[in-house]
Amino acid sequence: MSRRLLVLGWHNIDPTPYAPADPETGRRGFERQLALLDRLATVVPLSDAVDILAAGGSLPPRSVALTFDDGYADWLDAAVPALDRHGVHGTFFLVSDILSREVGAWWEDLAAAFDRAEVAHLEWAGRTHDLSTPQARHATQEALKSELKLVDRATRVAAVDAIAARIAPSAPAASPSLFLDWDGARALAATGHGVGSHTVTHPILAREEPDTQLAELTDSRRALEDGLGQTVDLLAYPNGNKGDYDERTMDFAERAGYRAAITTRAGLASPDASPFAMRRILVTPHTDLGELMGKVGRKSTKLAGAVVRRGVGLATTVADRCAPRT
Ligand SMILES: [Zn+2]
Repeated sequence: MSRRLLVLGWHNIDPTPYAPADPETGRRGFERQLALLDRLATVVPLSDAVDILAAGGSLPPRSVALTFDDGYADWLDAAVPALDRHGVHGTFFLVSDILSREVGAWWEDLAAAFDRAEVAHLEWAGRTHDLSTPQARHATQEALKSELKLVDRATRVAAVDAIAARIAPSAPAASPSLFLDWDGARALAATGHGVGSHTVTHPILAREEPDTQLAELTDSRRALEDGLGQTVDLLAYPNGNKGDYDERTMDFAERAGYRAAITTRAGLASPDASPFAMRRILVTPHTDLGELMGKVGRKSTKLAGAVVRRGVGLATTVADRCAPRT
C-alpha cells in the first residue's frame, strides 16, 4: 500500500490552435495511454484519494488519478467514452465563465491569431518580433505568452486582443465551440465522472488582488454547484505552477469550501504536503506514459525527495502545457 498518488493532468484530446496535431492522433494516443494504465496502475477517483490521504489511510500501489483542465468540448466526445471503455474515473476541472461564454480562452485566442498572422513583424512593448516564418511565429507566440502570464487577467486579455488585431485583423478568435457550454457541462456531470472548479475566468490567481482571488474561488464553486446540481469541492489552480498561487491563495481556497487544490508542480501528491498544494504531472495524449510511469515507479522506491525533484524533470520532458501554458 502507498501514501503517494500520481495525479496526471491532461487538457484537450483533439488538436486545437494552441495544441496542433494530426487529427485522430490525440484519440489514439489517449487510448494507448489508458491501455497502459490498465496494466501498470490502479486508477482511483481523485476525490476518494483525497479523502484517503487526509484520513491517514493508504492507497493501492501505483495509484493514479486522472484529471483534465479547462473544459474542452472533446471531453464528451473523446475523453469520457475512452475512460468508460476502460472503466476508469476522471475528474474534470471547469471554468464557469467559459461555460457561460462570458470569457474565452486567451491562450487559444493568441494561438489562433498567430496561426493566421498576416504580417511579417509585430511591434510590441518596445520590441520588434519576427513573424516571417512558422518557427519565428512560434517563438514569438511563446515569448509573448510567457510575458502575458506576469500581468493580471484584464491586462492579459486586452493585450491578446490588441496583438490579434495587429497580426491577424481578419481572423476570428478561437471558436467557442472548442469548449463545453453549460449543457455540455451538465452532460459531463451526468456521466458520473468527477467535476471540479478551475475558477470563474481562469486568471493566474497570484497575479490578482485578494478580493478577486477569493471571488474567483467562491463564485466558481457556487456557479458550478448551482448549474450542475452537485457538490463541487475540488479545485485546480489555473496555470498552477510555483508563483501562480501562494499561501494566501491556498487559504482562500480552504475558506471558499474546497477540500483540496491541485497544482501543476510536478511530483507525487502525498499527505506530507498541504491538500491545497497537491502535485501533479501534466501530460498530453502524445506523452510516452510508459516512460513516465517507469521513471516515477523507479524513483518512488527510493527517496521520496528524489521523486519530487525528478518529477520536475519529468514534467519538462513530457509536453508540460498548463505550466508553461495555462
Ligand atoms: Zn487551465
